[in-house]
Amino acid sequence: MRIDKMLANLGYGSRKDVKKLLKDGAVHVNEQKVKDAKHHVNPEIDLVTIHGEKVEYKEFIYLMMNKPQGVISATEDIEHETVLDLLEAGDLVFSPFPVGRLDKDTEGLLLLTNDGQLAHRLLSPKKHVPKTYFAVINSEVTEEDVKAFNEGVILDDGYKTKPGELKIMKSGLTSDIELTISEGKFHQVKRMFEAVGKRVIYLQRISMGPLQLDESLELGEYRELTEEEINKLI
Ligand code: URA
Repeated sequence: MRIDKMLANLGYGSRKDVKKLLKDGAVHVNEQKVKDAKHHVNPEIDLVTIHGEKVEYKEFIYLMMNKPQGVISATEDIEHETVLDLLEAGDLVFSPFPVGRLDKDTEGLLLLTNDGQLAHRLLSPKKHVPKTYFAVINSEVTEEDVKAFNEGVILDDGYKTKPGELKIMKSGLTSDIELTISEGKFHQVKRMFEAVGKRVIYLQRISMGPLQLDESLELGEYRELTEEEINKLI
């Protein structure tokens, strides 16, 4: 790979900025100064430094976002802000995209990556990756609902859902619940509650497969996954 491409991909600025770094003599490859933007490096093997600091090469980026309400889980939208608008330029250079969708009014765990294979595996209906949601429901959720969800409910289009695990955290005029499902039909959680005559008034995703929402992330904040989290995912 060309050194200018590698450094630009890693967020060290545009190709033009990177050319300047090279021209200024800031870049070394295996302890030799390199000024030629066309110089080829093997990012896995060669030691590249800028102003003496080692450049860590990575091909993939894995980000956990605490998605706020009001933004769309898409890479572009003509009308609304998207989750990509919340990312810093240094992360955008990797061209991450959201893994699956949360509704505009849903908050919580959203994974963004440029690892297409991982995204495919996580979203594949065959893999049954469990997703857990916290929700506030507009009325009393009962043990009957727990049973119904466990058996599968019929959605408005006639589809019978796979078993979902419903836990009642608080039941009353409004109820707090956690629901784990292993499929991802459009508006699935909302439609499952509609199927039992109830309405979701707040929805937050708290886990996806082995990933748990990092509660220290404020709404709209994100961070890279740790090595441990990545290893659990891939
Ligand atoms: N189910 C929904 O209804 N909405 C979401 O955003 C995610 C799951």
